[in-house]
Amino acid sequence: MSEASMQQYKCPNCNADLRFHPKKQGFACDYCGSFFTPEECKAANEQMEKQAAEQAEKIDAFADGNNLYTCPSCGAELITDANTSATECYYCHNAVVLKGRVSGEYRPSKVIPFRITKDEAHQIFKDWCKKRHFLPKEFTSEAQLLHMQGVYVPFWVANCDVHGTMRAVCKRVHSWTSGDYRYTETKEYDVFRDAAIRFDGIPADGSSKIEDQLMEAIEPFDYSGAVDFEMAYLSGFLSDKYDMNKGQVFPRVRNRAVNGSDQLLRSSMNGYDGIRVTQSDMQVLRTDWQYMLLPVWFMNFQYKGMEYGFAINGQTGRQAGTPPLDTKKLTLLCLLIAGICLLLGALIGGMLG
Ligand SMILES: [Zn+2]
Ligand SMILES: [Zn+2]
Repeated sequence: MSEASMQQYKCPNCNADLRFHPKKQGFACDYCGSFFTPEECKAANEQMEKQAAEQAEKIDAFADGNNLYTCPSCGAELITDANTSATECYYCHNAVVLKGRVSGEYRPSKVIPFRITKDEAHQIFKDWCKKRHFLPKEFTSEAQLLHMQGVYVPFWVANCDVHGTMRAVCKRVHSWTSGDYRYTETKEYDVFRDAAIRFDGIPADGSSKIEDQLMEAIEPFDYSGAVDFEMAYLSGFLSDKYDMNKGQVFPRVRNRAVNGSDQLLRSSMNGYDGIRVTQSDMQVLRTDWQYMLLPVWFMNFQYKGMEYGFAINGQTGRQAGTPPLDTKKLTLLCLLIAGICLLLGALIGGMLG
């Protein structure tokens, strides 16, 4: 181990510095609230060191081979390969300016390459629009379609080891009839679960601009399609530079791991007629992070002071978004219906009279 790591252990979940806890004789993370025994801590930190050393060589090549653009309007920072030039911001559609290179620490380890072509993405968008009513004309125009961009969105993909314990009072109810009497027998069991649970591939995007719900709506990504990152995958596409680190996305990942573990242990008790959980404790012991670029066709639409995001999973074609509503069209339709009602009313009135 290097000298630096001897001085300071890092949190295996969020990478913050750990603090020794004299009472519990272990290491606590003040940032994310995790706790580790000295053994867990040592093993995880050795693993993290090894991974960092493997990445180190590739870092310099990355720092030399990219262009960093910034958007003066919304502040987005976009990365392209050295041969691709970016002109407009995928997010706010304003012109971007070349700023230089991005440092090697932003090098992704994996990428899922685009499978959905631009033409296919356009078709998916058009089909989606066909099923929706009262869309503003500008939204479905060819000009708007030109703003759709293939963006590699920065994602932190986590594999989590969870230690979960759960205690519950479970009931079995049995009833039968004998003569004039009906008997009910209720048995109560004290049920305990102690489990090691592993989650693979919990994604959290590292871009504060992009709505989390929009990215969750186009899941899942198939990670078996991920390959080692090479600069060449960026050619013709943009990549967004992450502005949220592991520690900042960890609460989202932990929520999913903890809720998933809780559900798993509950479902392991489903043979009973009633379950009352009295204690549930889920600890994330270790998170392996992969910084990955995931392919997304992205289109943002500004309409009457509101922003509407539309996204397509660039691997599977799954789409999501909130359609903007043209209130003028809607009002016109309402007026038309009201008019028809009046007319009918008058006709019926006329016939009766
Ligand atoms: Zn932590
Ligand atoms: Zn912008």
